[in-house]
Amino acid sequence: MEPECGLALSARKVEYLKFILKTGGTVRTNEIASAFSVDPSTITKTLAEITAAGYITHIPYHGVCLTDSGKHHAEFLVKRHRILSLMLARNGLSSQEACREAERFESHVSKKAIDRICHFMGHPRQGVCGEITHDDGCLVGNQMDRALS
Ligand SMILES: [Zn+2]
Ligand SMILES: [Zn+2]
Repeated sequence: MEPECGLALSARKVEYLKFILKTGGTVRTNEIASAFSVDPSTITKTLAEITAAGYITHIPYHGVCLTDSGKHHAEFLVKRHRILSLMLARNGLSSQEACREAERFESHVSKKAIDRICHFMGHPRQGVCGEITHDDGCLVGNQMDRALS
């Protein structure tokens, strides 16, 4: 599976990575464990897997922080959540419902699909739970449309 497809991480790992990005800097294992009400030993195992994937670095006795590729990926995960929750909100769900619903399936949606949805939604700047950023991936859709017309 190519790393940029956006499907490399399970739903749980996606939530951890977004949490680490939101918290910023070095995040203690216990902090993640209590935020998600998970046993610290389970967290340690999951974090080791995310470390092996190259998204975070483990600093003994301090916690974990994002690597460059982890930060890049986490930003995509946040965008994916915001595009999908905004799409649901535009279809009549409340903001809260939209966020909760998106979290259930967002880890199964590829970057390619998100880039296309972003394009067809007109690159919205404001999601239901924060700002949405755009990059070459989604903006390339504009050029494709121009080429076709
Ligand atoms: Zn949300
Ligand atoms: Zn966009």
